[in-house]
Amino acid sequence: IGDSKDYDSEVNSVCPFCGVGCQVSLKVKDNKVKFVEGINGPANEGRLCVKGRFGFDYIHHEHRLTKPLIRREDAPPKGLNVDPGKWGEVFREATWDEALDAAANGLKDIGGKGVAGFGSAKCTNEEAYLFQKFIRQGFGHNNVDHCTRLCHASSVAALMENVGSGAVTATFNEIENADVAIVIGANPVENHPVAATYFKQFTKRGGKLIVMDPRGQALKRFASHMLQFRPGADVSMLNAIMHVIVEEKLYDQQYIDAYTENWEAEKRHLADFSPERMSKICGIDAEMLRDVARTFAGAKAGMIFWGMGVSQHIHGTDNSRCLISLALMTGQVGRPGAGLHPLRGQNNVQGASDAGLIPMFLPDYQPVGDEGVRNAFQEIWQEGTIDPNRGLTVTEILDAVHAGDIHGMYILGENPAMSDPDVEHARDALAKLKHLVVQDIFITETANYADVILPASAFAEKTGTVTNTNRQVQMGRPAVTPPGDAKEDWWITVELAKRIGVGWDYTHPSEVFAEMGKSMKSLANITWDRLEAENAVTYPSLSADDPGQPIVFADGFPRPDGRARFTPANVIAPDESPDADYPMILTTGRQLEHWHTGSMTRRSKVLDAVEPEANCSLHPSTLRKLDVVPGGLVRLTTRRGSITIMAREDRAVAPDMVFLPFAFVEAAANILTNPAVDPYGKIPEFKFAAVKVEKADAA
Ligand code: SF4
Repeated sequence: IGDSKDYDSEVNSVCPFCGVGCQVSLKVKDNKVKFVEGINGPANEGRLCVKGRFGFDYIHHEHRLTKPLIRREDAPPKGLNVDPGKWGEVFREATWDEALDAAANGLKDIGGKGVAGFGSAKCTNEEAYLFQKFIRQGFGHNNVDHCTRLCHASSVAALMENVGSGAVTATFNEIENADVAIVIGANPVENHPVAATYFKQFTKRGGKLIVMDPRGQALKRFASHMLQFRPGADVSMLNAIMHVIVEEKLYDQQYIDAYTENWEAEKRHLADFSPERMSKICGIDAEMLRDVARTFAGAKAGMIFWGMGVSQHIHGTDNSRCLISLALMTGQVGRPGAGLHPLRGQNNVQGASDAGLIPMFLPDYQPVGDEGVRNAFQEIWQEGTIDPNRGLTVTEILDAVHAGDIHGMYILGENPAMSDPDVEHARDALAKLKHLVVQDIFITETANYADVILPASAFAEKTGTVTNTNRQVQMGRPAVTPPGDAKEDWWITVELAKRIGVGWDYTHPSEVFAEMGKSMKSLANITWDRLEAENAVTYPSLSADDPGQPIVFADGFPRPDGRARFTPANVIAPDESPDADYPMILTTGRQLEHWHTGSMTRRSKVLDAVEPEANCSLHPSTLRKLDVVPGGLVRLTTRRGSITIMAREDRAVAPDMVFLPFAFVEAAANILTNPAVDPYGKIPEFKFAAVKVEKADAA
């Protein structure tokens, strides 16, 4: 794509895909991004993966929304019925004034708790902040959430509970100072590819990499230990490892005494989890569990990285509690090369969560139930009353639509008609809404159900900051102007706010960022001007010239008495187990070339050419048993529904498992997934469902 010399301007910004937050230089000619190069950002040092390098041309795709749209009065019933070429049969073009009035009036007419909002981890920090403020100030409640609920909500719940902060304690680049690292429930080579390059380099220098994953993966080649454990058996495996550390007195008593609480309870709890007993549950040899325990406890500096294989379970919070306990008992927090690092998914899921786009916290994780916190925000916001009750989460909001309690929604940049578990339930909820406002860059599956569609901007068209998995706040800059009448998201939210009667007068994202700084201690010493000049500052930053702290909690934790907590975790079975009707295990995830619900990457020529077709992965022995050749069709059926999809042969998948990417609307993975949620993080169990796999005939 593009000729590397054929451009006439270049703009530095940030990759719009994953939470690694690679800095990019966008090369532009004739208001078109021609190609992209990596530049020297703190998280990527010039590197890019295939998405960052080649996945930009969706910006100029013919499906881009260029005009506000309003549903026609004679449109067919709401459903997945909008062919991109025939959208005119469902929607009509409108002026901005007409569309904004229709969008705002519809929400205002419903009003109060009848309205809820889904914001986006793909928007900037300023846009996330404005979105949560729009719902809280404009409608007087906290029913506002975003896709963090579907990725790391359980990790954040465990981190908040036990170390007092939801963000990473050390950047992933700190692995260069470690001698042992655990990667569990994450597949960085596909999902955080540039971070994976640092992990590989670490092993080349002699670092020991312990990979724990029910599915094999590319990091296996670099691992000193590969633990391909039974899906859902994380707690039994991790407790067994910690049992050995206790039994062999490999823990760091000095650290435990100085910085933690509840150690004796944890120790007692772990007595029941001998490797010999747990081995039968997790499927890992007891001697391997002992070796891993000795290796991690013997590290001079050790890090733990985890992904959604840990978090997307009904016991996701317990999984994370185990990882936190493992780090605490070995004193592996707060030093160079030591730390806890949940690898965040979307480019700004860290920032959107920090900015308060979650129903239980105002910005900087300040509880909505705390009167002092509410008063402080009300003083800054001037208007409206902040509700002291926590709001509803993503899945709870859609349940409330079904229950008849919510009738209107404002959805910015999210695609619940593809991303939510048991997606037909989500689609039915969207169809039931009296008034749905969708703000996006394409007619997504969710926009199919909209009453008003507001055309927004791609990342290369907007100004604003984003925060990556490393807590690095980075400046995004516009390289091209939006197509047609499309506008930046912050502008659209401000215009809607004016129309629902909230007196906002922001004229630039920098004013929003300045307001955020008044209530968010995490942004202390980080100003818009600094970010313009330096491109990135890591929080916390201790002074106006401190580039930020890559490691936190060297001297204690933001918890009572400065102590982190051990919270013992019990083994809880997945919500549904394989049985005679559904004998195999379904797990879902992403592929290197495609991003989430596919709305961007499936419109990117290179990425779609490399991975054009919906597919699932099965072990060769399973394919033989089914009498299916690689490339043949299988039907996958769970208690929620059924899809037919091309089968790929993959030795990395266990014989009783099927791996299913969720980017493909024609075989939507979430038709099958289980909506059961973790009780603390309210995250659905995307990583485990009982499934029947059969040979299917070609249509
Ligand atoms: Fe973009 Fe993530 Fe790839 Fe970096 S690793 S180029 S942030 S998708």
